[in-house]
Amino acid sequence: MTGKILIVDDIATNRIVLKVKLSGARYETSQAAAGQMALTLARRELPDLILMDVRLPDLNGIEVCRQLKADPVTRGIPVVLVTANAEPGTRLAALKAGADDFMLKPLDELVLLARLRSLLRARETDEELRLRETTCRELGFNEGQAEFAGRATVALVAPSREAGVTWRAALSRHLPGALVISLNRDEALSQGAGGQGLGGGDGPDAFVIAADLGRPGDGLRLMSELRSRPATRNSVICIASGEGMRETVAVALDLGASDILPLDLTAGDNAEETAIRLRNQLARKRVADRQRNSVTDGLRMAVTDPLTGLYNRRYALPHLARMAERAKATGRQFAVMVLDLDRFKQVNDTFGHDAGDTVLVEMAQRLRGNLREVDLISRIGGEEFLIAMPETTLETAHRTAERICRAVERDPVSLPDGMGDISITVSIGLAMGGGPHYQNAQVQELVTRADRALMGAKAEGRNQVTISATAA
Ligand code: GH3
Ligand code: MG
Ligand code: MG
Repeated sequence: MTGKILIVDDIATNRIVLKVKLSGARYETSQAAAGQMALTLARRELPDLILMDVRLPDLNGIEVCRQLKADPVTRGIPVVLVTANAEPGTRLAALKAGADDFMLKPLDELVLLARLRSLLRARETDEELRLRETTCRELGFNEGQAEFAGRATVALVAPSREAGVTWRAALSRHLPGALVISLNRDEALSQGAGGQGLGGGDGPDAFVIAADLGRPGDGLRLMSELRSRPATRNSVICIASGEGMRETVAVALDLGASDILPLDLTAGDNAEETAIRLRNQLARKRVADRQRNSVTDGLRMAVTDPLTGLYNRRYALPHLARMAERAKATGRQFAVMVLDLDRFKQVNDTFGHDAGDTVLVEMAQRLRGNLREVDLISRIGGEEFLIAMPETTLETAHRTAERICRAVERDPVSLPDGMGDISITVSIGLAMGGGPHYQNAQVQELVTRADRALMGAKAEGRNQVTISATAA
């Protein structure tokens, strides 16, 4: 994943060291040497993340963070504050100002990069949910959601029963609005099965899980298991880990931990820090839940294709328009593909319409398996699909399209009723939007360009990808 990161530090050497580290990890960077400059650049460039020193010559980094989080334009940009020498209280002040994390210099590269990946992923999901909500509103399905602010349930899975009692006492004091419960591993796994919990899914709103339970790493395995279940998929899951467990922290973040918390809640400010981090996570989840729920069942039926469960044309085109607008704001590119099954009429003619339907359903499955959650996958015609990939370069889009062709070609589709297997291929036309060259292309024009490229792929013999000739 790539992303644009704004580095804020008044010392040029620090900025350069970070720039080299981040470029090595394929991030684009821009730089600011002072707080006011950071605010200006953040509003103008809308970076995906801000990595900022606390000590700046004009505005303090914490104050800059507070202002960024108060402005609707920049509110969604994750902010990581860093400092070389933290006076007591700085960490809490940073988190209270809305910072997504606080790290000490020298920065541990392993943990830093894992943290950036995790924050960027979360941001991508937030952006996507926000886009979906906007599209739904444009389609006239604005349900006027009542703001639901029930009491949050926080489930603790501590390393031992005694630690569970201590955790619960410490956290209940700092989270007066929440219902804090202590569970063991098996109890945690059974959460949601019976429909308890408030807000969003059926499970608890948040879990705090010790990285090591019975055995080292058991906490991480429990998190993965909870993430794979519908009731707890969207729960906040934080991993509590001891000082210096840098590899565990990096792995936890890569496996989808919402945040990392201190293990010993009795030491220093740890209980308060945990409470602030949990409150921040719960606030974010509340927004996401509202956006998810705004897609009501009626709407879902109106915008999805009943055969494949993919979005239909009615949803795809306005959503693509939103994506194009966002690309215009960020200057980033996005890709549009039109796919068409090759010689599909023959499948119907030879094996019947039901067999054809089976192929279409399998096709949708393979597309889902080869694209990201943020990509739009839709069925816009009988055997035609439209895919849109936000924040994507031509190289990545081309590679993805080729991968889809191979994934369809490689494994024959099994037909129902013992009709055997059938080999299928697809042709794909690809066009790029956004970026400096394609700023003003209308969505319809982009689809037309992808369509024309598709015809080229068909003419060249099918089972291949053709890229639209760039607009003159
Ligand atoms: P080409 O490689 O040129 O795309 O050839 P083709 O046979 O795929 O193209 P054509 O457009 O002539 O045929 C598309 C066929 O798709 C026509 C129709 O029988 C079939 N089709 C369209 N919608 C559905 C559907 O919902 N279910 C099934 N089973 N078939 C469908
Ligand atoms: Mg067709
Ligand atoms: Mg076809």
